[in-house]
Amino acid sequence: MTEPVRKILHVDMDAFYASVEQRDNPELRGKPIAVGGSKERGVVAAASYEAREYGVRSAMPSLTAKRLCPHLIFVKSRFDVYRSVSAQIRAIFARYTDLIEPLSLDEAYLDVTEDKQGIGSAIKIARLIRQAIFDELGLTASAGISYNKFLAKIASDQNKPNGQCVVLPENGEQFVSVLPVRRFYGVGPKTAERMAKLKLETGADIRACSMAFLAEHFGSSAEYLFYAARGLDYRPVRPNRIRKSVGAEHTYPRDLLDLAALEAAVREVASEVWERLERHKTSGRTITLKLKFSDFKQITRATSLPEAVQSEGELDSVLLALLSREWPLDKPVRLVGAQVSALSSKVFRDHEASGDRVGDTAAVGLQQYRFEF
Ligand SMILES: [Mg+2]
Repeated sequence: MTEPVRKILHVDMDAFYASVEQRDNPELRGKPIAVGGSKERGVVAAASYEAREYGVRSAMPSLTAKRLCPHLIFVKSRFDVYRSVSAQIRAIFARYTDLIEPLSLDEAYLDVTEDKQGIGSAIKIARLIRQAIFDELGLTASAGISYNKFLAKIASDQNKPNGQCVVLPENGEQFVSVLPVRRFYGVGPKTAERMAKLKLETGADIRACSMAFLAEHFGSSAEYLFYAARGLDYRPVRPNRIRKSVGAEHTYPRDLLDLAALEAAVREVASEVWERLERHKTSGRTITLKLKFSDFKQITRATSLPEAVQSEGELDSVLLALLSREWPLDKPVRLVGAQVSALSSKVFRDHEASGDRVGDTAAVGLQQYRFEF
């Protein structure tokens, strides 16, 4: 049996939050802006391309951003607006396919193997989607087009902003072979460092490794790396992403020092998590407390119950017990987070059963296929 060749798009908005702000306020256009708080505690949620030229990046502390770009303009985030624009973008996607897997407000995978309009060309669909986003929403997007999610995601970054890139089945292996390992999805700075020590610099270097070697050094990522290095990835585009955890966290304007304040913070976060669990009609067995300290170091402490947590009161007491085990803390706390995982609702189990199947098909030489992209 041969694997049917799929046509997958990864569409990614360019500097999404910042672009929405520049669209809605002409005074911000062409200027370095950062969405997020400028205060001491602020973190950049998104930076315009003008700001990126100064090295400003998302997730960067606002103070650092200001130092890099002294005339940086901070704009308050408007998530309700971003969410509604995101819904508009998804409505554009839905003209072509129902197989849409959002990764966040501003990016999604689309399976257009069989598009609704019978266009037949993934390259053309990507162009049409980007044009519609521009004409109707006044925003630009970039797209990656390929035969799997792994390559489509890398490709969308290739000609950013306002560009697209296709990796054809016959080119996938070659494309990956020259790819620096840090561009592999899921390879963070730590893994990249470990790879550097092993002299693994490109996809070709990973490809030369046996599964056993990869398993020894990269544990559960071995299979993914083994296939990805061959340009292969069999994960389907899943219209409903499996929710693996439900969580919430708060950064406090002032560091929390005493136990009473911390306990109040834990209860506040717990109540938010409980509300979300109820909304998603789920619950879970594993409960995690996260504390981030004034020096930005963080700890997580988790415990697993025999059964899914049953009430907000129970969630409270488990989290407070985790906190009391750490008490006294040796430094002040700036962020408190809580998460419930190992979710167990009926709905969740059904989804999980039809979840990812990576690598259960023998490596198929996809290069041999030729078809209209
Ligand atoms: Mg983006």
